[in-house]
Amino acid sequence: MSLPVPRSVLLSRALQLKCPQCGEQKMFHHWLSMYPVCSHCRLKYEREPGYFLGSIYVNYGLTALSTTLFYVTLHFGAGLSNWWVVPPLLTFCILFPLAFFPYARAYWLAMDLSFDQINDEPDIPPPGYVGPK
Ligand SMILES: [Zn+2]
Repeated sequence: MSLPVPRSVLLSRALQLKCPQCGEQKMFHHWLSMYPVCSHCRLKYEREPGYFLGSIYVNYGLTALSTTLFYVTLHFGAGLSNWWVVPPLLTFCILFPLAFFPYARAYWLAMDLSFDQINDEPDIPPPGYVGPK
């Protein structure tokens, strides 16, 4: 069993969209599509069905917080009317969650691993494994 990875290292790897456990493999092969398992350390990314539901909360929370701060700053701070503030913010509310999607998932997995680093479901065989004879 390996030593636990410090939380700062887990988060750093998540920001790079790399496997938070080993930092050797990218987690996504397309922007919205991730590998099921790390090809280097065999970490299963989606640990159970619906595992990444929590990342949606992270994504939504950051989008709502950012939108609120932008609106308050632009409307009440800069004095812009709603006609100038709302359309760009609606566009932001659509595009930002798509752009942040992989980071929310990587952050969610990194935070989960910071509390529970045991990969107790090694049900995917390593490369080259042919099974019992
Ligand atoms: Zn890995």
